[in-house]
Amino acid sequence: MKRLSAISKITLDGREFFIKRDEMIDPYLSGNKYRKLYTLLQTPKTKFTKVISYGGTQSNAMLALAAICKKKGWEFIYYTKTISAIIKDQKFGNYYEACSFGMQSIELEYDLYKEYISALRLGLDEKTLLIDQGGADVSAKEGLEVLADELREQLQEEPYSGIKALATPSGTGTTALYLALSLPEYTVYTTPCIGSVAYLKEQMHSLHTIPKNLIILEPKKKYHFAKLYDEFFDMYKKVQEAGVEFDLLYAPAMWLALLESTQESILYIHSGGLTGNRSMLKRYQRRR
Ligand SMILES: *Cc1c(COP(=O)(O)O)cnc(C)c1O
Repeated sequence: MKRLSAISKITLDGREFFIKRDEMIDPYLSGNKYRKLYTLLQTPKTKFTKVISYGGTQSNAMLALAAICKKKGWEFIYYTKTISAIIKDQKFGNYYEACSFGMQSIELEYDLYKEYISALRLGLDEKTLLIDQGGADVSAKEGLEVLADELREQLQEEPYSGIKALATPSGTGTTALYLALSLPEYTVYTTPCIGSVAYLKEQMHSLHTIPKNLIILEPKKKYHFAKLYDEFFDMYKKVQEAGVEFDLLYAPAMWLALLESTQESILYIHSGGLTGNRSMLKRYQRRR
């Protein structure tokens, strides 16, 4: 079968880790967003005229959807809470790129946001597709099965055949969940990067019961999404120096958890998100 990405090896703290380089698939549709939106990418242009979604203004899912809609010629409407002036003025980053792909963003007042979003699904016509925040949808299953088939084949080869565990960080948990369901013969490690372990379990549970081979590692400390942490920056640097660049929002927490709480040989599925690094690095620089 066709392989969408290769596997690299790095050494961290004297341990070998393998990395499935899904961030190399596409600059805008990278990592797990490519996998989660695989079904939509295969959908014929004529099926829809419009896609609607909502969520954060620097979201990687937003950028991936904007790239798909541009490719398909679909209108893309994206609802957010109020957008900061910094983000509106920036000539780089996910919001800027998504707008340049033709995304129409609509800001909602904080008080109205929740109610407005829950009303979006009412009265949609058959040519309009609504995608929940972060692409948390049962349709993500198919793309993760494609990844699973690819891994099953790749991991039979040397020097990968000793690998029995995979890892990938979680936002909604959609990626880790469907990966674990598609590969019951492997342990899948994840860690919550948005909210608590309980919140992550709830999110996963709304899609499917959580399988036994999916192990959620609890972070040592409570981290708030998109906040700046010295240990995240240090981990980003350390892994980059080992040879592979990761994102600054999700990957640092996953690497911290893996180094703290696991011992075996692990294949990390790179979840992409590098397009957000420039603005995150600027924020870290301003702080230092
Ligand atoms: C979206 C994203 C995640 C989280 O994926 P979920 O399927 O929502 O858990 C992890 N890493 C990166 C870089 C992402 O962009």
